[in-house]
Amino acid sequence: MVLCVNALESAIKAKLGVPPDERKLQLRDLLTQVRSQFPDLNEFDGDKIRALRDKRNQLVHYGFSPKDDRECAVLLLDVGLPFLNLCYKTMYDFYLDWHEIRPGITTFDKLTSAEMSKAGLVPDVAEQLGFIMYIYKSANGKEGFNPEHSFYAFIHFIRMHLKQSAMSQSEMNSLEDAESRGIQYDNETKLKNGLERLFHDTCNLDCPICYGIGTMIVELDENSLSEGDIAPDRCGCVRCGFVVGRGASYISKVLLATQMVESRERLLKEFGLTDRG
Ligand SMILES: [Zn+2]
Repeated sequence: MVLCVNALESAIKAKLGVPPDERKLQLRDLLTQVRSQFPDLNEFDGDKIRALRDKRNQLVHYGFSPKDDRECAVLLLDVGLPFLNLCYKTMYDFYLDWHEIRPGITTFDKLTSAEMSKAGLVPDVAEQLGFIMYIYKSANGKEGFNPEHSFYAFIHFIRMHLKQSAMSQSEMNSLEDAESRGIQYDNETKLKNGLERLFHDTCNLDCPICYGIGTMIVELDENSLSEGDIAPDRCGCVRCGFVVGRGASYISKVLLATQMVESRERLLKEFGLTDRG
């Protein structure tokens, strides 16, 4: 959250041409100035931005503890990221998520090179940011939901990529050789069989975290099935170890939404249901 507010401050200072050694201007002053130049920024709730700024100042001056996690998660998801995105769009015609550059485009490579240069995050990371925001929007306010859970998949994504980037060339070569691939396939098959025994009414989808093909074993929600519909419940990836347990199906619903739509007809047929949709 602190980094997000710092990014916000830097973006505004750069737009206003504030020199790097100017330390008297506070975020409050910067916001007043930039809002007079870009009235669209006034649409964002000022009280929320004040709460974000106050919390950032508290963390910077007095430190933080895990007790701050929930409040920081809400401020980041409700205020920090949306307002930073709005500032980038309004002031620089620059977008965190490439989907917003030309709404309706379904793949990044359909953008022109000029449009691609306006994208802030690489597509894989933009997709993860989308997951965070959709999980929060779809589950916020529901019983048992903790806003920190919005970051659950993203944390796994970061851990997995850190692990990969820390590998030596010889480790990567070992993973690539035919014998290792055979061992990996055998292990994944064993895990798949185990999960399919544990879960009821399963289907295999691609993992949205490690991109393993068919490595995500998904248990379909029994209530939906009894009503003649399909929806994911718990799931687990046999390649990267990402798991969503029962009671957190709001995460699998967001992560697997696109694939569920694409596979809907096939799955309805497999489970002997007819499409009522
Ligand atoms: Zn995976």
